[in-house]
Amino acid sequence: MEYISTRNTQKTFSFKDVFLKALAPDGGLFVPKKIPLYTSQELEKLRNLSYNALATKIILKFCSDEFNEIEIKDLVKNSYKNFRVNDVVVIKKLGKVNLLELFHGPTLAFKDIAMQVIGNMYEKILEKNNLKINVVVATSGDTGAAAINAIRDRKNMKIFVLHPDNKISEVQRKFMTTVNSDNVFNIALASNFDECQKFVKSMFADKDFSKLINMSGVNSINWSRIVVQIVYYFFSYFKVVNEDEKINFSVPTGNFGDIYAGYIAKKMGLPINKLIIATNSNDILKRTVNTGIYKPLKVEHTVSPSMDIQVASNFERLIFDVCSCNSNKTLKLMNDLNKQGELKLEKKELKKIRESFCSESLSEEETKSVINDVYKNQGMLIDPHTAVAIGAVNKISLEGNIVVLATAHPSKFSDVVMEETSIKPELPENLKNILVEKEKYEKLPKDLKKIQNYIMERI
Ligand SMILES: *Cc1c(COP(=O)(O)O)cnc(C)c1O
Repeated sequence: MEYISTRNTQKTFSFKDVFLKALAPDGGLFVPKKIPLYTSQELEKLRNLSYNALATKIILKFCSDEFNEIEIKDLVKNSYKNFRVNDVVVIKKLGKVNLLELFHGPTLAFKDIAMQVIGNMYEKILEKNNLKINVVVATSGDTGAAAINAIRDRKNMKIFVLHPDNKISEVQRKFMTTVNSDNVFNIALASNFDECQKFVKSMFADKDFSKLINMSGVNSINWSRIVVQIVYYFFSYFKVVNEDEKINFSVPTGNFGDIYAGYIAKKMGLPINKLIIATNSNDILKRTVNTGIYKPLKVEHTVSPSMDIQVASNFERLIFDVCSCNSNKTLKLMNDLNKQGELKLEKKELKKIRESFCSESLSEEETKSVINDVYKNQGMLIDPHTAVAIGAVNKISLEGNIVVLATAHPSKFSDVVMEETSIKPELPENLKNILVEKEKYEKLPKDLKKIQNYIMERI
């Protein structure tokens, strides 16, 4: 499979390039030149596969130039052997919807599902090509933990994670800072997530620095994360509906990575009716679906912090797609966004978006009341991100089956869950040690040079 950039369709890239670079040299995002399509007969052949077997088949479609089937099969098996459930994910009935629990990995959020595979892919690719790299990543809480867990103790790589000091939950922080491993470095900045992200982008843009340290990125624009996330859309479809029935997914959305994987699943032939973009009060995507104008506003802090994002980086991939893969047009729109602070989609592009997507947002009060209602009526504790996705479904009427993506374990956000239900959600037994173990992290000032020096001294 060949890859191109959303800002230049002429030059092609291999999976290895796409994996290691994360961002295209022209600043665009990598996408496949052609997305593979399953016929309905081929789809039915996948129906009864185990999660791991299905993951092997789907992931291989996107990286067979780099890996053979046996390698991917082993890699998938290794990635998921420590998950707390047999088939990686769990599907539960919750009233009229189906809850797809994606949080049974080592750091209790859906990001583990892709990140564990990526950790193993790194090891293989670095070994084959005799490379060493340094991962630098900013986190609003969950990405950093998942990445550290996936990369800790691996050969040929180190990881540096920037998090906003005091702006993530205690459990989120401890998942990162209690990892005692020589190749893991945590940096707390007296700042917010957007600024952490900006520092990482500046380091990538500093070509001398990024070359010198062999910098690599695992944030949600990395195409391989999307690929691995496609799998659970297929898996849950087979488990929830019969042949020829349609399905809808409600997805708690921040950077537009998880839901975009659902869109690729649809383009691969999965009969998805609508993908619901569920957001908290950072509702840029809802406003875009309603008006065609994509305009970031100031970030608001909410009880669902992993979605406190205004610039949904992966949205560029959808723009490219609905502009009929016209990279000049995409580049122009992204330049508009940079220069004027907004971009405007044409009617026909907006129409295409509305064919696949709808969107709802929830206020803080609404999110909390969903947590409360679900506990009162169903006796189940849910985390605030999942609550946003359930609340969005309640605001929209859709035909057919609905699957809600449950993206984090309630114990990761125990304060708000306890406030609403008076029950303290417990961490899984084998993870409780993080609460008492010694933390290790460095507080650094908001100064690019100082951060770069800190990294240079440790590689
Ligand atoms: C990262 C995250 C999201 C948002 O996912 P995106 O791919 O950024 O849209 C939602 N819920 C939780 C718990 C997360 O950690």
